[in-house]
Amino acid sequence: MGTVVNDRLQVIGIQGLRVVDSSIFPHIPSAHLYAPTVMVGEKGADLIKIMEINLKIFILTLLFTTSIFAQLDHLNYGPFQQQGIPFRENNFLGARPILREYDFIVIGAGTGGCVVANRLSENPNWSVLVLESGKDETVYTDIPAVTSFLESSEYSWGYTVEPVKNGCFGFKKNRCPWPKGKGMGGSSIINDMYYQRGKREDYDIIASLGNDGWAYDDVLPYFLKSENNSIPEYQNSPFHSQKGNLHVERVRYHSTLVDKFIEAGGELGLKVNIDYTVDPEHGASRLQATTINGRRVSASKAFVRPVKDRQNLHVAIFSQVTKILIDPKTKLATEVEFLKRDKNRTVYAKKEIILSAGPINSPQLLMLSGIGPRDHLKNHRIPVIKDLQVGRNLQDHYGTVALEFIVNQTSPVINQQSISDPHLFEEWFKYGRVHLQYQGEWTA
Ligand SMILES: Cc1cc2nc3c(=O)[nH]c(=O)nc-3n(C[C@H](O)[C@H](O)[C@H](O)COP(=O)(O)OP(=O)(O)OC[C@H]3O[C@@H](n4cnc5c(N)ncnc54)[C@H](O)[C@@H]3O)c2cc1C
Repeated sequence: MGTVVNDRLQVIGIQGLRVVDSSIFPHIPSAHLYAPTVMVGEKGADLIKIMEINLKIFILTLLFTTSIFAQLDHLNYGPFQQQGIPFRENNFLGARPILREYDFIVIGAGTGGCVVANRLSENPNWSVLVLESGKDETVYTDIPAVTSFLESSEYSWGYTVEPVKNGCFGFKKNRCPWPKGKGMGGSSIINDMYYQRGKREDYDIIASLGNDGWAYDDVLPYFLKSENNSIPEYQNSPFHSQKGNLHVERVRYHSTLVDKFIEAGGELGLKVNIDYTVDPEHGASRLQATTINGRRVSASKAFVRPVKDRQNLHVAIFSQVTKILIDPKTKLATEVEFLKRDKNRTVYAKKEIILSAGPINSPQLLMLSGIGPRDHLKNHRIPVIKDLQVGRNLQDHYGTVALEFIVNQTSPVINQQSISDPHLFEEWFKYGRVHLQYQGEWTA
C-alpha cells in the first residue's frame, strides 16, 4: 500500500483492478496474518461497496439532469438472473459452464478472496466469479495436527526459497521449502490456526505512512465484524465479537505442559493469561485458535460454504489465472485469462477484477499482466503497462524461532500412524479433543 496500491487498494494508475490479500501491507503487523487478512477482505469489500454507492448516486444525478434512460440498460442484470443457475464447477460446484461475464472476478479463493467474495455476493444484483487454482478441502485438511504434512502436499504450491548462505542447512542446496496454500481457503487450509491481530502501533504505522483509514481504530471494527469468539472470558470484551464468520475458540486438547509453561512465565515476571489479541507483548497465555469443535476453520469454511447456494456467486476450482488483460491506452482492466482443463479461457469483468492470489502470486500476476518494475518486465519481454515497484517489499516470516527444552515427560506425538489410527480419528471426529486437535505444546 502506497507504492503499488492506494489506500482504497486500487492498483495505482489502473482502473478496475484492486488487490485484496496479505500482500498489501506496507508494514507487516507483528502477528501471523490470517485474522489481519480477513480484516483486509472485510474492509476491501466495504471500500468497493462505498465506491459503487457513490457511482450510483452519480449515475442517478446524471439521469435526473440529462434523462439518459438508455443508461438503465447498463444496470440491468436480467440476462444473468434469468438463467437462475446454482452454478458450481467441478465437485465444489457441479458441472455447469462459467459465464462469459460477471460484475466482479476474484482471483484466488484464499483468505482475502473468500471474504471479499462473500461480502460482494451479499448484493443479489451483483454477479461474482471466484477463480481458484487448487481444489476443495477434505476431512483431512480439517485435522489441525496434520498441518505440517499439508505443507508438502498438493495443498501447497511447493515453492522453495533461493539458496541461503547461513541457513536452511537441512535442505538440498540450502533451499528451505516456502509453503503457500493452494485450494479453497488458500493458506488458511495449511496454516497453524493461531488467532492473532498484531499491535495497535502496527496499524497506526500503516496509517502514518499516508494510508487513510488503516489506523487501529479504523480497522478494529473489521476485526470484530469477522470474529465469532466463543472463549467464555471474552464474551463481554469490547475487543471481541460473537457475530462474525470466523470461529475462534480455546484448544480442547490440553497438555499439562501448557500450564507449567504459563506458570513459568509468571515466575519470570511475565503477565499471565493475557488476552494477546489486545495486548500482545510480554505475556503468556493459552492459544486462541481458528477452529470450531476442534476442526480447522479455513476462510472457505467460514466465508464461502455458508453462502454457496447464492445464485450470484460462482466458484471455479482448478482454474489457474495466467493474465489480467488491461487496455494499454485506457489502462482499464477488463478481462481475466485462465487455464482450466488445459484450455485457455477468458472471462469479462463488468465492474472490477479483485486480485487475491496471495503474497507471491499476486505480484507475479501483476507482472505477467504488464504491471511492475519497467526493467524487470523488459528483461522478460513483457510489454509495460504501468511501471510500479511490484514485489519490492516482499516480507514473510519463514518460521518461529523458539527455545527448545528437554522435559522428562513426553506428551503425545503426531506421526503418520496416529493420523490413520481409527480410534484417535473417531475421538477427534466426535469430540475434537484428542491431540489430533493440536500438537500439545503449541497451545500456549
Ligand atoms: C504454513 C503456514 C502457517 C501459517 N500459520 C498461521 C497461523 O497460525 N495464524 C495466522 O494468523 N496466520 C498463519 N499463516 C498465514 C496466513 O494463513 C496467511 O497470511 C493468509 O492466509 C494469507 O492470505 P492471502 O489471501 O494473502 O493468500 P492465500 O490465503 O495464500 O490465498 C491465495 C489463493 O490464491 C490462489 N492462487 C494463487 N495464484 C493463483 C492463480 N494464478 N490463479 C488462481 N488462483 C491462484 C491460491 O491457490 C490460494 O488459494 C500461515 C501461513 C502458512 C503458509
